[in-house]
Amino acid sequence: MAGVYERLGVRTVVNAVGPATRLGGTTLDPEVLQAMAEAASACVKIDELQERAGQIIAEITGAEAGYVTSGAAAALALAAAACMTRLDPVRINQLPDVQGMPHEIIVQRTQRYDYDHALRSVGARLVEVGFPDLTFPYELERAITPLTAAIAYYPTRSRPALPLEEVVTIAHRYEVPVIVDAAVELPPTANLRAFIAAGADLVAFSGGKAIRGPQASGFLCGRADLIRAVAFNHQDMDVRPETWRYRDLIASGVVPGPPHHGIGRAMKVGKEEIVGLIVALQRFVQRDEAAELAGWRAKIQHVATALRGLPGVTVEIVDPATHQAAVPTALIALDERLLGLSAYDVLNRLQEGDPGVFLSEERAWQGVLGVNPIVLRDGDESIVADRLVAVLTEARAPATAAPERR
Ligand SMILES: *Cc1c(COP(=O)(O)O)cnc(C)c1O
Repeated sequence: MAGVYERLGVRTVVNAVGPATRLGGTTLDPEVLQAMAEAASACVKIDELQERAGQIIAEITGAEAGYVTSGAAAALALAAAACMTRLDPVRINQLPDVQGMPHEIIVQRTQRYDYDHALRSVGARLVEVGFPDLTFPYELERAITPLTAAIAYYPTRSRPALPLEEVVTIAHRYEVPVIVDAAVELPPTANLRAFIAAGADLVAFSGGKAIRGPQASGFLCGRADLIRAVAFNHQDMDVRPETWRYRDLIASGVVPGPPHHGIGRAMKVGKEEIVGLIVALQRFVQRDEAAELAGWRAKIQHVATALRGLPGVTVEIVDPATHQAAVPTALIALDERLLGLSAYDVLNRLQEGDPGVFLSEERAWQGVLGVNPIVLRDGDESIVADRLVAVLTEARAPATAAPERR
């Protein structure tokens, strides 16, 4: 199974973090792999393939159009570029130099986070409004100027923000598009349509997370004119005006000619990723969500049961049914003093093995480890449970026997 990694001498990991990019995202179903292999066996025109993929994304999301990207971060970068340049080839050629074009993207301070670098990466400047935990509508409205290219929205659950509908109403009053980062808003499946239904103009999803598509895939859905601007900023532009797929736009005076390679050319997507993402997305919307949830719950329960009764260890299960989490998750609270180990020590001991076992470290600073089941293969839950029990039991060996560790 792990053949190629074995030959390369690279160990595989048991991933109880979820579809984290640093751990290889997720594993792919054989149907997706098969589709990618078939895609690799012939050449196609990428603009034609993207148009067909975009139609399928549009049908699934309820948007006007769609576009496959090399991830949600690339989708955000391309969305920002598209909102700044629209179809103007001069502007497309000019990025990341934003002089003379609208280049400000407004964000609520409560929604600042590590992925907004993707918006800035194409030259956009973020303009923050509000407090770290509160934004008033007038703050957003007054920040809109002729330099505003877009408003970015990150539907974080942990901090209060203006609701998307309210942001959309204000933005559209000034014809400013709203970009939503929905990279991790799946499950539930309904969110594939929810942000578009709420009026967002471009929505970014990750393909390599819950959708279980290729790790380096994602997509945008949204307004057709903006998606076309995404394509112009992204596609290989070693083209001639006379034969270019969109030469009718030149004839009709919409554009003076094709741009050169845009800023998105460095975020290339292969035909294998486009096809893999589309097949994974089609499978994602057809899957039995209840059965999937039940499988995840069983894996979490297996870990919780194995840890039951261990001194210094308390397990809490949070679940979407009670709106505590998007995915059933086991939260393992450690009595660090009693165990003589910090949560970080436990994480390091788990990940140093072969296979390395990786748990969520989001709340490690509070002494809490998380087990997320999304990427656990069948049987992985036993490895997680066994290694946890071993590390947590060994931790309580007599203090005199424990050497100084760091
Ligand atoms: C993972 C993630 C991204 C980036 O998605 P990729 O598909 O890995 O590029 C963007 N935003 C958020 C909130 C994410 O969690």
